[in-house]
Amino acid sequence: MSSVDVIVIGAGLAGLSAAQRLKERGASVKLLEARSRVGGRAQSERLETGRFQGAGQVIDLGAQFIGDAHMRLSALVDEVGLTRVPRNSQGKNVYLCSPEAKRVVVNGDDLPLSVFGKLDAMQINWRIGRRLEDLGVADAAALDGMTAAQYLRQLAFTDEAYRYMVGFVEAEFCVTADAFSVHEFLEQFASVGGRKGEAASAGWFLSEGISPLAHHLAGRLGSPVVLNAPVVSVRQDDDGVTVETAAATYQARNLIVTTPPQLYRSMGLLRLMPDHRRQVIAGYQPGAVIKTVFVFDAPWWRDQGLSGSMLCPGGICNAAMDASPPLSKTGILVLFSTAESGQRLGQTTAEAERIDRILAWLRSVNGGAVPSPIAARSVDWNTDPWSLGGYASRRGLGGWAAAPDLFAPIGRIHFAGTETATEWRSFMEGALQSAERAVEAVLAPG
Ligand SMILES: Cc1cc2nc3c(=O)[nH]c(=O)nc-3n(C[C@H](O)[C@H](O)[C@H](O)COP(=O)(O)OP(=O)(O)OC[C@H]3O[C@@H](n4cnc5c(N)ncnc54)[C@H](O)[C@@H]3O)c2cc1C
Repeated sequence: MSSVDVIVIGAGLAGLSAAQRLKERGASVKLLEARSRVGGRAQSERLETGRFQGAGQVIDLGAQFIGDAHMRLSALVDEVGLTRVPRNSQGKNVYLCSPEAKRVVVNGDDLPLSVFGKLDAMQINWRIGRRLEDLGVADAAALDGMTAAQYLRQLAFTDEAYRYMVGFVEAEFCVTADAFSVHEFLEQFASVGGRKGEAASAGWFLSEGISPLAHHLAGRLGSPVVLNAPVVSVRQDDDGVTVETAAATYQARNLIVTTPPQLYRSMGLLRLMPDHRRQVIAGYQPGAVIKTVFVFDAPWWRDQGLSGSMLCPGGICNAAMDASPPLSKTGILVLFSTAESGQRLGQTTAEAERIDRILAWLRSVNGGAVPSPIAARSVDWNTDPWSLGGYASRRGLGGWAAAPDLFAPIGRIHFAGTETATEWRSFMEGALQSAERAVEAVLAPG
């Protein structure tokens, strides 16, 4: 059995970037991936049917949007030479405060609330900002014992501002606001540079899709990624680590695990962890997300003065965005069903049925003025065995206080992946940052 310096588990952006960095620094690496493709939660698809035959419109079924502050990702995009497409923000946004409510349309920089509701939402945001400033010194146990929903309830004077804030948080976090703590909530905002950072996190996307970034990193590795190789067991002793897939056994001096934490159990990693960490990982809350992409002949919503951005708490889709290509008449609308909306829509397991339900819903919101799409996809990431959810999973209530050292190395085993990032956690940028940190730790002398 041959041995390498480092085994990396998972060929998502974190694993690919870690492996490539290690190689650049002279280490020998083996990268093991469960799926038959690289990219993990980033997956682009070329449409080849109907009028796209030969022309190949690319859509992203997973991660897609990038912000200017995503420095590592932006540098990678430039290195590969991909085309940035600014996300359309011209036009009015649609808001439905509940599934039964009539839609409200407002300018992109306005809040869809009454004057009192707006003032309330502004003071809530201001108080969240103040809380972020003393996150490091505040009582972690108290912040970690209260749910994000309870916290927002406490801050809000009006029901409408509360509902709006919870709707926004659940669309972003993919987990219901009563399943994670204020600490998790604030840590996430801190990791992206506060509410301003969050607001600028989806400025553009790539004409060619995200997958070319993963293929580029895989190509630079030199040795091929071992695909279709789900890791089933990990052991370590004084000499190194032993990693098993169904087909082979691999040995290395060190290991970097980049899978989402809810998958650690399936590799036997939990039994290597101290009790307090094992319990927090066992209580991890996978995010729920179904992403549906509609491709239309034209971006019809723009003709109605709409931007394509929607926020619909409790709706079958609770958020939507315009992802239309430039210099083409095609209109692409991406719709997200996250948190409870994602769990409910997930009960419709057949993709074609989900697409029909979402189209019917979109027509009900837009008074029927929605043409038939020329192509559509709807991907349920919750049931994908190698993700078990998205955009990212979250520490459950009490998880920060119980295990501040949650992702510290255990002997020769290091942890990366977006959930472990300290910057831009839950984003692609976080995956790259986590890889940087893990590689430095592995290569540190001693
Ligand atoms: C629908 C959706 C939309 C999103 N939108 C955005 C967005 O617009 N912008 C953004 O920045 N982020 C977005 N994200 C989040 C983004 O996709 C992730 O933050 C990022 O891709 C995570 O990368 P990673 O390498 O940490 O994890 P992953 O991509 O999950 O990589 C982990 C890898 O480990 C593999 N694996 C799992 N188990 C095993 C095993 N036992 N053995 C071997 N390999 C294994 C998996 O197959 C996977 O390839 C979105 C996510 C989803 C699901």
